[in-house]
Amino acid sequence: SEKLDSSSFEHDDKLLNGLLSGQFDEGSCLSRDQVASYRKQSPYKPSSYLVSRLRRYEALHKRCGPNTESYNRFVANLRDGEKYEESPDCKYLVWVSYSGLGNRILTLGSAFLYALLTDRVLLVDRGVDLDDLFCEPFPEASWLLPLDFPIIDQFKSLNQKSPECFGNMLKTSNGSSPSPSRYVYLHLVHDYNDHDKLFFCDQDQSFLQNVPWVIMKSDNYFVPSLFLMPTFEQELHNLFPEKETVFHFVGRYLFFPTNPIWGLITRYYNSYLVQANERIGIQVRVFDTRPGPFQYVLDQILACSLDNNVLPNINANESFITSSPGNQKSKAVLLTSLSSGYFEKIRDMYWEHPTVTGEVIQIFQPSHEGYQQTEKKMHHRKAWAEMYLLSLTDKLITSSWSTFGYVAQSLGGLNPWILYKPENETTPNPACTRAMSIEPCFHAPPFFDCKKRSGTDTGLVVPHVRHCEDMSWGLKLV
Ligand code: GDP
Repeated sequence: SEKLDSSSFEHDDKLLNGLLSGQFDEGSCLSRDQVASYRKQSPYKPSSYLVSRLRRYEALHKRCGPNTESYNRFVANLRDGEKYEESPDCKYLVWVSYSGLGNRILTLGSAFLYALLTDRVLLVDRGVDLDDLFCEPFPEASWLLPLDFPIIDQFKSLNQKSPECFGNMLKTSNGSSPSPSRYVYLHLVHDYNDHDKLFFCDQDQSFLQNVPWVIMKSDNYFVPSLFLMPTFEQELHNLFPEKETVFHFVGRYLFFPTNPIWGLITRYYNSYLVQANERIGIQVRVFDTRPGPFQYVLDQILACSLDNNVLPNINANESFITSSPGNQKSKAVLLTSLSSGYFEKIRDMYWEHPTVTGEVIQIFQPSHEGYQQTEKKMHHRKAWAEMYLLSLTDKLITSSWSTFGYVAQSLGGLNPWILYKPENETTPNPACTRAMSIEPCFHAPPFFDCKKRSGTDTGLVVPHVRHCEDMSWGLKLV
């Protein structure tokens, strides 16, 4: 019986304490089968309520998903322009591919949570290559929007001025409830206007309730503002008693790299990171149009690493020889950046000088793609592999404002040190700050009191929704 116990424990661990369904075929997605042996166990545990809601969602997805009888019926309705039924038995949220990969991962996670809260089925527009990046997350039913979906050609042109746009509908209906349409388009992009932002007000949300097709475009992690809505408050509390674990669990549930990307991740990990005593991730994202590298950024990375004992200082005395060979501790640093300059300088520094602790410091950078690219398969594969590799480290330093870093920190369950955003090409002092939580920051939250219908500071309403460390007007869960 001892044997039985230990194997069932392994099984639990593999399914992340019940977060994942056991219904998948072994081998269909290697990262799902193998990731448990690359990660330390999460310090957090999903609530049993979250686990049961995920299983309920999976059943709904299977009943209403692509190519089911229900799906075909609702698609026919949409195509033929019929008005919708009073209370449809399946409702859909179509997420449209938009923006950089980090942004897409965060908005897709937000969309899934919103679908869960409103009993919608999440269908994903694959854009250029989404199906190349992620395994299917739900057992026995695809999340990919079929390519013959009636209005798929219109996704690109949907915008704030579209007659189906939620904000626009509210504006033209002028106080009364908008008349039903075949579908509603939600514009939750950073440039959204005051009418679009009414999405975050219960009373305005209500007309979406029976609309069978809701199409969403976003480039933001809008979850923190859902926590401020009375309609969802209790449910969210039940799902996530520990508020800072939302994206940690949603991300670990939804986003598994496909086999080719898992190959990139595991080959890199096994070649460069596995043997070190400690793994350090440094994510460098410089929002400057010039190519760099910049001395003030290099100084900042080093100041943050040294001041917080993430990396040891060097000994300027060149004849200083450290302990006997063989038993030195090693730290492997995984540095990610579009440019290779920071990596080269830090690597050389630890080659040219000994460390004061005698530790061996190895610096690695998987790629240096130069600039952000939008249509290239290998570029996106590498970006996803690098976010994932960062999430497998023990300590993490990230850059302000970067969703790339947010994905790594939340997936990894790592409270990062965040490098402050430099102003006027000067190294900030202090160089970085420890994050309050592992959650991503919502960069474009509404500042509106839905009851009073006037402006308010939404970062001061409840203790678990606060302004971000790296963006004073952003909101994050703590
Ligand atoms: P954000 O702009 O930092 O919020 O992150 P996004 O992921 O949304 O967009 C930045 C994009 O630039 C990424 O998706 C990559 O395509 C590229 N990129 C930025 N930094 C890196 C990096 O360190 N490594 C790689 N491979 N790509 C990067």
